Amino acid sequence: MSHHRVVIIGSGPAGLTAAIYTARASLAPLVIEGEPSSTSDQPGGQLMLTTEVENFPGFPEGIMGPELMLRMREQAVRFGAEFLTAKATKVDLSSSPRRVWVRDTEYTADAVIVSTGAQSLMLGLDAETRLLGHGLSTCATCDGFFFRGQEIAVVGGGDSAIEEATFLTKFASKVTLIHRRDTLRASKIMQDRALSNPKIEPLWNTVVDDLLGTDRLEGAVVRNVVTGAVSTLPVTGLFVAIGHRPNTDLFKGILDMEDSGYLVTRPGSSHTNVDGVFACGDVQDHTYRQAITAAGSGCMAAIDCERWLEAHGSH
Ligand code: NAP
Repeated sequence: MSHHRVVIIGSGPAGLTAAIYTARASLAPLVIEGEPSSTSDQPGGQLMLTTEVENFPGFPEGIMGPELMLRMREQAVRFGAEFLTAKATKVDLSSSPRRVWVRDTEYTADAVIVSTGAQSLMLGLDAETRLLGHGLSTCATCDGFFFRGQEIAVVGGGDSAIEEATFLTKFASKVTLIHRRDTLRASKIMQDRALSNPKIEPLWNTVVDDLLGTDRLEGAVVRNVVTGAVSTLPVTGLFVAIGHRPNTDLFKGILDMEDSGYLVTRPGSSHTNVDGVFACGDVQDHTYRQAITAAGSGCMAAIDCERWLEAHGSH
């Protein structure tokens, strides 16, 4: 067992920014960064699954997602953050010190920062792993710009899909909206706006069965679920917008969360309902979901945590 002033669970932009700030405040945080995998709860989070990031301030020439995360990690290490490449498997936040387990090993902390992120729900196709970041995307705000003048598609029928499809018409020459039913789930006003947009063409009762292309997306194999007809949609970009799932299984029954699983923080702060436990990044944000907003909230969590430790006599 080892004791730390601060344990940070999760190492996307939120967790790493919290690590940089708490490390510079001489709190020597332990970051439980996750385990390498092909999903977004691995070390570095969702940015490890992206290619070029052009909207993170300070990189006018752009930077690859994994490199950005590596540099944030190096910055945290430079100031004394310690990293454990493992997944937290159990927590007990009810008493002081807070307890976090990685399998059988227990770590204790005066304060805990939760930055376990969220995952985009995917279609479950084998080709997704190969093409994510190479024509396949889960974030229109991040990647729309790369598809100027191209024909692309969005999958989903909720507010996210409609919002993304509408946003993408700024860049693409045509956006096909692929939905598995013939009615959208999205709010009426957003539906009306999207369906009256001449660049958006809905493809009802349709699912994506496969993605074509080895290094880059070249098309999507789609099937009409009513007629069974299969065809190929010649798109160079496909945005999956079928929802997100926050990585909060570890905190069920322990931290307050919305029905959708997102952690609840006190408005304008990173405080959770448990004293000395803070949350930042996508695990508590289903609105903005950007690297820069996650990093900003990681900074908030570090400052809230530092002040809380000071107020509670932990120096
Ligand atoms: P959502 O409301 O859960 O919608 C998910 C959509 O994806 C549904 O249309 C669903 O189809 C479809 N879908 C789910 N799994 C699928 C699969 N495996 N294959 C094909 N299609 C699949 O998710 P969301 O759009 O991300 O929205 C989440 C929440 O955020 C909602 O409460 C939404 O209102 C809110 N939001 C609001 C705004 C805004 O107001 N500006 C913007 C974005 C999101 P079915 O309809 O058939 O179930």
